[in-house]
Amino acid sequence: MKSSRIPGFYNMSVDERRKLLKDNYDLTDEQMRNLSNNPSLSLDKANNMIENVIGTYELPLGMGLNFVINGKEYTVPMAIEEASVVASASHIAKIVRSAGGFEAKSRERLMIGQIQVVGCSDFKDAKQALLNQKDTLLSAANDAYPSIVKRGGGTRDLDVRILNEDANSTYSQMLVMHIYVDTCDAMGANMINTMVEAIAPIVEEITGGKVYLRILSNYADRSLASARCVIPPYLLTTGDFTGQEVRDGVIHAYEFAASDPYRAVTHNKGIMNGIDPIVIATGNDWRAVEAGAHAYAAKDGQYGSMTTWSEDEAGNLVGEIELPMSVGIVGGATRVHPLAELSLSIMNIESAAELAEVIVSVGLAQNLGALKALATDGIQKGHMALHSRSVAIAGGASGEMIDVIAKKLIDQKEIRVGKAKELVEQYKQ
Ligand code: NDP
Repeated sequence: MKSSRIPGFYNMSVDERRKLLKDNYDLTDEQMRNLSNNPSLSLDKANNMIENVIGTYELPLGMGLNFVINGKEYTVPMAIEEASVVASASHIAKIVRSAGGFEAKSRERLMIGQIQVVGCSDFKDAKQALLNQKDTLLSAANDAYPSIVKRGGGTRDLDVRILNEDANSTYSQMLVMHIYVDTCDAMGANMINTMVEAIAPIVEEITGGKVYLRILSNYADRSLASARCVIPPYLLTTGDFTGQEVRDGVIHAYEFAASDPYRAVTHNKGIMNGIDPIVIATGNDWRAVEAGAHAYAAKDGQYGSMTTWSEDEAGNLVGEIELPMSVGIVGGATRVHPLAELSLSIMNIESAAELAEVIVSVGLAQNLGALKALATDGIQKGHMALHSRSVAIAGGASGEMIDVIAKKLIDQKEIRVGKAKELVEQYKQ
């Protein structure tokens, strides 16, 4: 197992980093070509993926280092445009690896398909009729996608709810049937949609109602992944701040997010800073993951934190995260986009559940990165220094000029585009 701890990686040239990755992860020549091709996704492939294609859109792909999750080393590809995210994740992963790494698990991986039935003469009878025909319905859904059954997956259960039974409007009264499906290593949206569409006529026959919507639910709360870390305070010492002070600051910051949606949204955005880049790098559907994660953050009735931070009896900082994680290692774009395939192989991911565990661990790390900065120097010091290169480019710098202008922006403590433009003009003269 190659260590994800690669000292000095940030100081290497892009070519040196690529060579190191090739050697460390036995990447093939074709994978290396895909990495250096611009665009990596061919126009031909892109044109077959979506409609009205005019080109491809690239994002920086960086490596999150130092991760140890369930005792396994992970170097994590992250596709993101925002500076300081990759550095912050790697910084926290280094602290957590000194504390034994992240522990992560996936409880079960069932995706949910919904069928909406309206116009039943008696909703209670219709509900009972569906429950009586459970086996027939589950096996009809399996028949619509037999290959997933052969792989060991398929339907596992169903349930039925009546919504708005007493509403005055018949538009509001409805029955909603869920089927729960093990989609194995796929995210499963297309599988589920195929299944629910196939059994809709049977549902109409059983209920005497009319089926309207038949589609996957992105609230994947039967596909939860969780991660945990326990950090002794001495590992949190930062500048003039003691580890205990940092720990307390992180817990206060968490309590703020847990109590106030205005803070929780920003707190959770920081968590998604770690999650989305891996979801994107692996060709997964980040809108699905975003939607499910935010809904889960409101599961107790008020939108709150996706993580919890507390102090254990020994005074350690304990961080936990649990989120719906509807991702796959097959299907969708995961095997179509060449860099998605590369990202999965660098992480040496063997199952969708394992990918979900890595993703939530990085989300937890990213959250601690932000809270630790907020509880100490504030977010701007580290972030703006790393953002200075982008500001220099936005101000017109190119080539060797970028580093010079970025350094001047930091030295003069004015990291903004107007200042960068001035400095670029001076440099040219
Ligand atoms: P696919 O339709 O690509 O299905 C996955 C395929 O992978 C199956 O056809 C299966 O084929 C094959 N496969 C190979 N090995 C395995 C394995 N070990 N486990 C499971 N399947 C395997 O993708 P999904 O059904 O996962 O759908 C995901 C896509 O759907 C995403 O692109 C998403 O953006 C999109 N989508 C999302 C929606 C939403 O979120 N609401 C709605 C609609 C679409 P076989 O068994 O035949 O070999």
